[in-house]
Amino acid sequence: MFGVYGAPDVAPLIYRGLFSLQHRGQEGAGIVVSDGQFIQSVKGQGLVSDVYTEQAASLLSGRSLGIGHVRYSTTGSTRIQNVQPLVVECVDGIWAVAHNGNLVNAGELRRMYQEAGAIFQTSTDSEIMVHLLADPMYRSRPHRVARALQQLKGSFSFLVMTRDCVMAARDPLGFKPLSIGKLGTAWVFASETCALRQIGAEYVRDVDPGELVVADSAGLHSTFFSETVPPALSHCVFELVYFARPDSVVFGKNAHLVRVAYGMRLAEEQPVEADVVVAIPDSGNSAALGFARRSGIPLDYGFIRNHYVGRTFIMPDAGARERGTDLKLSTVPEVVSGKRVVVVDDSIVRGTTARRRISALREAGATEVHVRISCPPTAFPCHYGIDFPTREELVAGVKSVDDVRRVIGADSLGYLSEDGLLMPFERPSSFCTACFTGRYPVDPAGAGGKKALEARNGELLLDL
Ligand code: AMP
Repeated sequence: MFGVYGAPDVAPLIYRGLFSLQHRGQEGAGIVVSDGQFIQSVKGQGLVSDVYTEQAASLLSGRSLGIGHVRYSTTGSTRIQNVQPLVVECVDGIWAVAHNGNLVNAGELRRMYQEAGAIFQTSTDSEIMVHLLADPMYRSRPHRVARALQQLKGSFSFLVMTRDCVMAARDPLGFKPLSIGKLGTAWVFASETCALRQIGAEYVRDVDPGELVVADSAGLHSTFFSETVPPALSHCVFELVYFARPDSVVFGKNAHLVRVAYGMRLAEEQPVEADVVVAIPDSGNSAALGFARRSGIPLDYGFIRNHYVGRTFIMPDAGARERGTDLKLSTVPEVVSGKRVVVVDDSIVRGTTARRRISALREAGATEVHVRISCPPTAFPCHYGIDFPTREELVAGVKSVDDVRRVIGADSLGYLSEDGLLMPFERPSSFCTACFTGRYPVDPAGAGGKKALEARNGELLLDL
């Protein structure tokens, strides 16, 4: 998510901000802007550059506030209605809503509103927020937004916009990042700090967990919608393992440096005799550097990534994923032939990437292949906004480490420990590690996720 309040022409800034956040979602993109009176929006499926055409740029130009979103689906299918920001007209004007996270009680609230006669247009969990905002029970700004936010459970960072203000909020446990920046006299909000830097904005601070920040003609105001200070926070540790861009500062830490520290710790916890360390690019780059530094084994480019291939992870079927991985990563036989190779990646999910890359290394002449992963086994689905498959589809969800090693065809396999994962942080208890431990900080019962929501709405979706 990316939002700006108070610049003369916000659309090109939002475009650049979203472009820097493209790694957070590639299914759809949307930009909504206002001149203080009238709202314009452009949305589409695909990449930011597909949506922000010349025509879109001229439609959106010259407006002083706006928000944008790139979509990565954790609930709801890939279709245009689900692309955000969601824009709706309420009795008091137009509201635009962008959400990052996953609401575990969205299904329950949706049913309640549907029973009262509400009509839903999307299959996303995020749409419940516009119904809460439209509900006469919660009206009279800013308490209206605060009261709507109080109804939500799960992980959420929101940007909400009306014709004359931009608001930013984070759930009380702080699952997802959201930062505030300043560009001259304009206020900027971004999911990651890399996007602030991209437009030359200065980082001011993060939106606090449980905080609602409003940027309007009177400046920046803050209120807390969560009445009680939570005993613990639940920052998503996977943001630092994989999701965030390495040049972002997330939850107070630079993602690249955390990953280098993981690689160093991994070399201590899972040592191996080898001739060369190679990363699976780009996700394993920083940890491989750390592994090489600590082990003394030289780092080299054993794989070259083709940058014209999108994320293979989100491809719908296993065959497409395997072909996608092959197209994306090529081996450099001159680097690995006749060598004992340590391959470093950030995580193994279904095991597709690791299995294909190991066989490619052997074909290229590697004599031994040792896999080192810079997080613990990903054994549990995420209910808070990372798109992991079910426990059965997660290779470490159903198999022991040695069985995973066999499936991917490695000579050895070593993961980072849970202690190692939390070692870079001053307050380790403030991180959510549910995908590794199965300890869910917010009860996911009823979350249902993508599959449940789609199953419930199956008939309707087919009709649309
Ligand atoms: P897999 O091939 O299914 O084992 O997926 C592992 C690869 O996908 C790793 O190289 C990760 O960098 C990347 N990855 C891990 N988790 C995710 C996710 N939730 N969404 C997209 N990509 C991911």
